[in-house]
Amino acid sequence: MQTINHLHSLREAVEALRNNGSIALVPTMGALHEGHMTLVREAAKRAPHVVVSIFVNPAQFGPNEDFDAYPRQLADDARMLEDEGVSLLWAPSAQQVYPAGFASSIHVAGVSEGLCGAARPGHFDGVATVVAKLFNQVQPDFALFGEKDWQQLAVIRRMARDLDFTRPHPDAIVGVPTVREADGLALSSRNRYLSPDQRRQAAALPARMRETVARIEAGADVRRTLENLKAGLVADGFDAVDYAELADAASLEPLARLERNPARLLVAARIGGTRLIDNLPAGG
Ligand code: AMP
Repeated sequence: MQTINHLHSLREAVEALRNNGSIALVPTMGALHEGHMTLVREAAKRAPHVVVSIFVNPAQFGPNEDFDAYPRQLADDARMLEDEGVSLLWAPSAQQVYPAGFASSIHVAGVSEGLCGAARPGHFDGVATVVAKLFNQVQPDFALFGEKDWQQLAVIRRMARDLDFTRPHPDAIVGVPTVREADGLALSSRNRYLSPDQRRQAAALPARMRETVARIEAGADVRRTLENLKAGLVADGFDAVDYAELADAASLEPLARLERNPARLLVAARIGGTRLIDNLPAGG
């Protein structure tokens, strides 16, 4: 596996890979876990060359968020990727990604504005801009993203369609189902912020979400059921619920009834200083 930190070397290396096969890209912020590795394995099924990027993107963190605390373990990550047969690790510095004078930003209207977009102003502009740069830098045939970050996936799909980023392949942006712990908690680099007590309490999030989907699918009133979900999470030890919404799975427009398919239940909730997100399909 080659590890590359400079854009000019990346361009040469990507060209050499492309000359003998297609490329699948897996963008990450590192602190790799089994969720990321599942993306890497899915990537390897689609293309002979897998490129993984590791970049803790300052543009997608708000001023009071965990940019400084975010776990960084590049040497361990590189070993995991090497063992998995990854061709190239792209690990640029912030200076490489945002050189002096950098002034551009991509805003994907609508789909990026509610849910996490409302709770984290500017977050998805940061995500869309860095992913657009990665698409231009690597020009992958496929790019893989986790369903764990459902709104991110929807924003990137919209952007790729709108800006003609993807190669002609209709399935160029691949969403990979969420990888979970045995108790249902979605794997996340941020789970390591949780104390043992908080970690135990955090399992209430997927459990209550499954219960909520079942009730809505059985015909319960959506608004009331979502209110019960929020109250239940607080009773289970969460400090606050940023949002709990039923939404159209592609546009993320809120739904008051399970009338259109596919729909998605999306939740963000805080436990201690840690913000956890999760989502589940509903009614489809
Ligand atoms: P991150 O490093 O958190 O930015 O995540 C990089 C990629 O891995 C994103 O596409 C995430 O959606 C995906 N990912 C993170 N956690 C999981 C998980 N538990 N299951 C599947 N994909 C995940």
